Amino acid sequence: MRSRRDFLQKITVSAIGLPLIQRYDTTGIQNFIHPSTQNKVLRVAIMGLGSYGTRVADAMQSSEKAKLVGVVSGTPSKIKDWQSKYNIPEKNCYNYENFDRMKDNPDIDAVYVITPNALHHDQVIRVAKAGKHAICEKPMAINAKEGQEMVEACKQANVKLLVGYRMHFEPKTLEIIRMRKEGAFGKVLFFQGLSGFRIGDPNQWRLNKELAGGGAMMDIGIYSINGARYMVGEEPIWVTAQETKTDPVKFKEGVDETIMFQMGFPSGAVASCLSTYTMNNLDRFFLNGSEGFAELQPSTGYGPIEGRTHKGKLTQPHKTHQTVQMDEMAAIILEGKQPVVPVDGAEGVKDLKIIDAIFQAVKAGKKVEVQV
Ligand code: NAD
Repeated sequence: MRSRRDFLQKITVSAIGLPLIQRYDTTGIQNFIHPSTQNKVLRVAIMGLGSYGTRVADAMQSSEKAKLVGVVSGTPSKIKDWQSKYNIPEKNCYNYENFDRMKDNPDIDAVYVITPNALHHDQVIRVAKAGKHAICEKPMAINAKEGQEMVEACKQANVKLLVGYRMHFEPKTLEIIRMRKEGAFGKVLFFQGLSGFRIGDPNQWRLNKELAGGGAMMDIGIYSINGARYMVGEEPIWVTAQETKTDPVKFKEGVDETIMFQMGFPSGAVASCLSTYTMNNLDRFFLNGSEGFAELQPSTGYGPIEGRTHKGKLTQPHKTHQTVQMDEMAAIILEGKQPVVPVDGAEGVKDLKIIDAIFQAVKAGKKVEVQV
């Protein structure tokens, strides 16, 4: 396989007279980058040093274009540990009270917010006001209104907002998208998404509506929503949804345990999905068209992702998702690179509009129209 550097193809001239490098990446996307930004590294602070924050920090050690340089945490002992593990200078360490001061720190370019869902909104807006680009974990907020406010705050501050959709850079996923675009599946007719796991500790924030904004749907069901959109290649126009609860003590009011939902797309394609906190072994996407099919199982776990189509097994090699994601996101922020599937704030708001509609459909017990 050709390396990243091999994709540099030719020098051309931009509309304003600056030389641009025309580059084709692994996905065939054409990008124009200024040579001045080509070797720049995105200097990132992680906010929220929990389990996923740690995974991202470890993966970033192998990143070519993104470097972990700072932290935001409410726990001084964790800051100390991270400082020694990742060689983070004292001047790049903040807590939740004082991180607005990052405004005066020229050594941090972006903050990756990896805290409980309900905190993302205020934290991203503060990051934007501090003049830093924001990368925010999924779900970007707990409803579409909050998500839109984040998009607007970042626009106003002239910083970029990206959502941690790591699957948008996963090679087998991208191969299916490429095949669908070239018509390999014929007319796309049906998608099935199964997203779930059995959740443990009843006292964790994921089961607290105030912090999670919901239950399984916000956390894991969102993968089936997002996956349906990039696999089918359309935006849904309606949803229907049904909820079941076997344990109302663990899954309190507003914290969904299991939701089955269906989506309809403008072409007539339909999706049938399951989101649950009660069953393991549920990580599967299936796309069916008039001329063929694609299947991913596991479809969104940390990998390796496994898949096949009517043409055979998908063999694209696995690379740590978060390493690829950080390299790609650095290129988006620093070079204006266009990803195959968007990862910007507007993309995050679309998923939240669908989640809002699913919750509404559960309550109403009938079909709800969506406009994303
Ligand atoms: P976690 O509980 O392991 O970590 C959360 C961190 O936030 C902890 O360090 C905690 O101390 C900190 N925190 C700050 N304020 C807090 C508060 N008021 N209450 C509780 N904790 C607080 O959770 P996690 O699994 O790392 O998830 C964090 C975010 O990352 C969530 O939005 C989740 O959806 C997302 N996530 C994404 C992926 C992915 O594959 N993209 C995977 C896991 C988690």
